[in-house]
Amino acid sequence: MVEVKNLVKSYGNIDAVNNISFTANVGEVLGFLGPNGAGKSTTMNIISGYLSATSGTVTIDGYDIVDEPKEAKKRIGYLPELPPVYQEMTVKKYLNFMYELKKATQPREEHLNEIMKQCGILEISDRIIRNLSKGYRQRVGVAQALVGNPPVIILDEPTVGLDPKQIIEMRTLIKNLGKKHAVIFSSHVLSEVSAVCDRIVVISQGRIVADEATNKFSYMNTEEMKLTLTVEGTSATVISAVSSVDGVTKVRRGDRQSDSVCNYSVEYKKDVDVRKGIFRALAKADCPILQMKDAGMSLEEMFLTLTTPTYQDKGGRD
Ligand code: ADP
Ligand code: MG
Repeated sequence: MVEVKNLVKSYGNIDAVNNISFTANVGEVLGFLGPNGAGKSTTMNIISGYLSATSGTVTIDGYDIVDEPKEAKKRIGYLPELPPVYQEMTVKKYLNFMYELKKATQPREEHLNEIMKQCGILEISDRIIRNLSKGYRQRVGVAQALVGNPPVIILDEPTVGLDPKQIIEMRTLIKNLGKKHAVIFSSHVLSEVSAVCDRIVVISQGRIVADEATNKFSYMNTEEMKLTLTVEGTSATVISAVSSVDGVTKVRRGDRQSDSVCNYSVEYKKDVDVRKGIFRALAKADCPILQMKDAGMSLEEMFLTLTTPTYQDKGGRD
């Protein structure tokens, strides 16, 4: 439904988004996870057609967001990070306004009532937006994204600033939306993304560093052992050398430390000690190991390893 291909967005010589590709389908909640400044909002703004890409393409149900913006945008409901505010309108008036703006065709009363019910804002529909709590305002934001029943729903950090109860309600809402839409939902909170999403795309410094089914992440967490490496040499050589070691099941590149030095995460079978094998394979490939850490990593640690260039394990679990 959403197909993002080789997306690049440069500001001067900064690449806010650096060659991002992924797809999202109806019936799926895709978590877009990354620390602040990773490029989440930039990517979402490009997908929704509010920002032009430096290069790369986005198609929504086959419609290119640049070539056929009208058709593509019709299929997207977007809650931006900083939603445009219509503070003085009542909730109902605002949703009616959005209904007209989007030229929605569903029977109006029924459609808007259904959305307000789904978002839990029916009882506050006559209140002025300015007077609502942050939690309710976020739900109104989600509600406007649903007007016109677009197949794709994009929500940029919808739980930021909410209290714990509101966060749980918002997560439940997002999960339900995933049944009938393709939902892309960004967050910098790993536990939240793993609780809500079917798939997680991890983004760091404008690049995708992981794209996995959520249950695969938990599987890695419990069943597989992993270690992290910092190695000098070309990535292809390092990955090929480490992959060839008996017991290694997966090698993934993390962040780049310098031109020739990168972090890697290596998964291996539980009862095999692969460290000596990795040492020999990399020595043979003439790629010096600058650091090797063995860790039955938690999800949080995995996330940090993938997204932080200077990650140091301070937990002392070697
Ligand atoms: P996130 O939403 O993941 O926090 P953003 O997409 O907002 O990240 O930002 C990604 C990077 O792009 C950041 O380094 C940010 O400073 C930079 N950036 C975003 N918008 C602009 C802009 N208009 N001009 C220059 N740099 C920008
Ligand atoms: Mg953002």
